[in-house]
Amino acid sequence: MTVLVLNCGSSSLKYAVVEPDSGRQLADGIVERIGDDGGPADHEAALRLAFDALAGAGHDLDGLGLVAVGHRVVHGGPDLHEPTIVDDALLERIEQLSPLAPLHNPPALLGIRVARRVLPDLPHVAVFDTAFFHDLPPDAATYAIDREIAAQWHIRRYGFHGTSHAFVSRQAAEFLEEPLESLSQIVLHLGNGASASAIVGGRPVDTTMGLTPMEGLVMGTRSGDIDPGVIMYLWRTAGMTVEDIETLLNKRSGVSGLCGEIDFRELHKRIDAGDESALLAYDVYIHRLRKYIGAYLALLGRTDVITFTAGVGENDAAVRLDALSGLAPLGIEIDEHLNESPARGPRRISAEMSPVTVLVIPTDEELAIARDCVRVI
Ligand code: AMP
Repeated sequence: MTVLVLNCGSSSLKYAVVEPDSGRQLADGIVERIGDDGGPADHEAALRLAFDALAGAGHDLDGLGLVAVGHRVVHGGPDLHEPTIVDDALLERIEQLSPLAPLHNPPALLGIRVARRVLPDLPHVAVFDTAFFHDLPPDAATYAIDREIAAQWHIRRYGFHGTSHAFVSRQAAEFLEEPLESLSQIVLHLGNGASASAIVGGRPVDTTMGLTPMEGLVMGTRSGDIDPGVIMYLWRTAGMTVEDIETLLNKRSGVSGLCGEIDFRELHKRIDAGDESALLAYDVYIHRLRKYIGAYLALLGRTDVITFTAGVGENDAAVRLDALSGLAPLGIEIDEHLNESPARGPRRISAEMSPVTVLVIPTDEELAIARDCVRVI
């Protein structure tokens, strides 16, 4: 029994074939440059290319034992927070949410429509990236703006990367052999997108992303927190349009905006070579990360475990060390040897005596989506 998991962006289609029971990923890949010269013409052509690649790797569609197609949908808005079997009514509701997530939901919708056309006999399931944070307590979910305007326009903090935060926090409990209900956790999802969450007893009490995935940590190409005054100033004074500013904050900001580099491996090389803009980008990134870790330690009062995940969190020992160095007075001590070890898989990197356990746990959003699919079909 397998599930095909699809994650569609405006010009890319990521796919994976997952066995939800064993957690095994049979195949995965990405088709990029959709609509570009030399790339597939559209998302349907991209999906067919993915099938060709699967067949080329010996995975014929008919022989895969697919029982469902799982679709990652970034924004579920105020109401959609359970994995849901796709029908026309659901598509219409997701479409209505497009203004809340103009960069992310339209390509996901397109991917669902194409996949339903190409695989009409399978159930398709939408899994929302906001779902885990649906019950964020009001103090964390509410922006301090006029309540009527917020209500009219569904403005609240939604949170994203929910599938990852939920998966990793459960994995942490499993790894520690402690009941999830007993743990106070901080999860640091540090990939190209980055977010942190504070989780008590398996339920989130805060997260760094908000109405959109732009709030919070410094990311690969997104600014994270910024004074909203910057937006008005650029609009009014620099003559930038809303679209210009959206592009600036999503694509020309973050580590990349500061030094032109998005990959942390290259960033470290440039820092080692004395590159000042790379060093500033790194320092700004770490400063923001430490600020939120401190905030969440205060929110939680007692923290049992801090977990790093995603591309940077799983692989970059320097980021992990710099994020938590000097915090022994707060009960956090990294074992530098464990932290440097190139091991894969879930592992502890805190010192034996550290009151707060620090873990590295690889995230697996595809597996989490596949399991959500099986649960609802
Ligand atoms: P993700 O969005 O989770 O796929 O993370 C992608 C990012 O992880 C890349 O842009 C890199 O900055 C970072 N990354 C991946 N591998 C490594 C590595 N071995 N060391 C440091 N950073 C890495």
